[in-house]
Amino acid sequence: MAKISFEKVPHKSPTPADKRTALMADPGFGRVFSDHMVTVQWTQGVGWHDAKVRAREPFQMDPAAAVLHYAQEIFEGMKAYRKPGGGFGLFRPDENARRFNESAKRMAMPDVPEEMFLEAIDQLVKVDADWVPSGEGSYYLRPFMFASEAFLGVRPANEYIFCVIGCPVGAYFKGGFKTVQVWVSEEYTRAAPGGTGAAKCGGNYASSLVATKEAFDNGCDQVVFLDAVERKWIDELGGMNIFFVMDDRSIITPPLNTILPGITRESVMKLASDAGYKVAETPYSFDQWQADARSGKLREAFACGTAAVIAGIGKVKYRGGEFAIGNSGDGEATTKLRAQLTGIQRGTVDDTYGWMRSVAA
Ligand SMILES: *Cc1c(COP(=O)(O)O)cnc(C)c1O
Repeated sequence: MAKISFEKVPHKSPTPADKRTALMADPGFGRVFSDHMVTVQWTQGVGWHDAKVRAREPFQMDPAAAVLHYAQEIFEGMKAYRKPGGGFGLFRPDENARRFNESAKRMAMPDVPEEMFLEAIDQLVKVDADWVPSGEGSYYLRPFMFASEAFLGVRPANEYIFCVIGCPVGAYFKGGFKTVQVWVSEEYTRAAPGGTGAAKCGGNYASSLVATKEAFDNGCDQVVFLDAVERKWIDELGGMNIFFVMDDRSIITPPLNTILPGITRESVMKLASDAGYKVAETPYSFDQWQADARSGKLREAFACGTAAVIAGIGKVKYRGGEFAIGNSGDGEATTKLRAQLTGIQRGTVDDTYGWMRSVAA
């Protein structure tokens, strides 16, 4: 298809600088949004059209819009960082573009040209450059696509909207890293073979919220899901992948299939293997996890994803009890891998893997 060009319709009354500074002082995660958004429409028979960089504002939606009834929606998440020498760096956005299309395929949605996806992201970073925090924070980009057609019959929709919004976010761990506590859900599962576990779709999150609430109610930060067939194997967290570090410098992470193929997960596997760890994608059971934590064979466990990057797991709770991992603090591998990965992302460590995409200021 021909290269799509974006019409620029600047915001008529962008947030004044002093108000923006106040909003960015403590943005948290996903509460403060920058002034603009990118939208592109798709219609059956026409394809992608009407690409705009414009003021962020509510959508006009028909109450019968298919997404509101049948959840035909997918999304992505990535971060832009201010580079030490000026300009911005995005961490592996081409991988997000590729995964977005994998999710689209699974949800019977149209293909989004990788070039259009990347151009939309560049445009938003450029127009809202003032919203990219310096220091510890970053600018989180949320590309998503949903079925906008007004139709209650059950079939893939004939109209979609692709949109990118962005928000300044603070450091995930304020005042230094601390390990998280996780809750292992033995009642609810998130994905079965043949289902949508590998797609980044809103529906997966909708069905995981009751387990997340159970985790919160039990004083935990996150939920860990077991496989849906045997309720035996560790899958992943609600929105993060998981790694186990053993006393013989081997590292285990669950294999792909029903889990989300995390870009952080894949990057960690490369970094760990190049650092001399033996990395294996192997099923790991909840029973084994408990036994290895108790015997001391398991030294560390951590969760990883775009938002937190790498979060050490200090304690595990479940219906029948709880156990600690290592000394409940961040271990050596967790600390080292996190320093290397965040260094590459922020431009303070050499990007020998060619992972960063630059956007000019
Ligand atoms: C997005 C996501 C992850 C992490 O993927 P990254 O590409 O590393 O951000 C892990 N699990 C689920 C369910 C996710 O939606």
